[in-house]
Amino acid sequence: MARVAIVTGGTRGIGRAICEELKQGGMTVVANYGGNDEAARNFTAETGIVTYKWDVGDHQACLEGCAKVEQEVGPVDVVVNNAGITRDGTLHRMSFDDWNEVMRINLGGCFNMAKACFPGMRERGWGRIVNIGSINGQAGQYGQVNYAAAKSGIHGFTKALAQEGAKFGVTVNAIAPGYIDTDMVAAVPEPVLEKIVAKIPVGRLGHAEEIARGVAFLCAEDAGFVTGSTMSINGGQHMY
Ligand code: NDP
Repeated sequence: MARVAIVTGGTRGIGRAICEELKQGGMTVVANYGGNDEAARNFTAETGIVTYKWDVGDHQACLEGCAKVEQEVGPVDVVVNNAGITRDGTLHRMSFDDWNEVMRINLGGCFNMAKACFPGMRERGWGRIVNIGSINGQAGQYGQVNYAAAKSGIHGFTKALAQEGAKFGVTVNAIAPGYIDTDMVAAVPEPVLEKIVAKIPVGRLGHAEEIARGVAFLCAEDAGFVTGSTMSINGGQHMY
């Protein structure tokens, strides 16, 4: 039986590339998304991958959404927590809502999805959870106290849950992408982006497919000894 994978925020950008990569590797993949129905329709038409709409920041919606997937598709073996948003601004301009929304979706989403899917993986003795963090969670970034805190939190969440999953065959890892050419980065003003690219040793933005390759590696059948790790895929921009 093919493994069943859910990719949150799977209809666009990095999530879409992850869906396609896992599907190509033989998994049965479903994509969650937040609200952009048109992007979801195009995605399904182009990839043949079914979509499920719910807000990953909503605990109850995650439990119900994942239960629906399990009923319609099968027990979930792989969760890729990829959904994420930015609400940038320096601290003195950032509202409490901007802080809360980013924490709720980017970090809360990982907790909600794990609550929904980790117990089943544990029971069945096999699972893969991959959380998409960020270089800005590792190094910090001007104007992103909310995003950097949430992403940094993801790296801690990963190491803690990895310890809980280890003896049950459930691995939990993170990927910390550098700057990748998606809609999220298209929103960065051109002069700022030029300065960012100048700091990337390989001299270019990354491609979504390059993150997807890392996810596929961490989700492989024979990747059971890799857990609690953070894979940096960033063109050499941040090394440690
Ligand atoms: P995009 O903005 O291109 O896509 C975001 C995806 O997340 C969309 O499918 C969107 O759905 C979904 N989403 C947003 N909010 C929710 C929600 N509340 N519930 C469910 N789904 C939601 O993002 P990227 O592909 O650029 O980024 C993907 C991940 O990678 C994010 O976690 C991001 O923080 C991280 N990352 C990205 C980097 C980059 O350079 N691009 C660098 C480092 C990390 P919808 O279409 O419905 O809005």
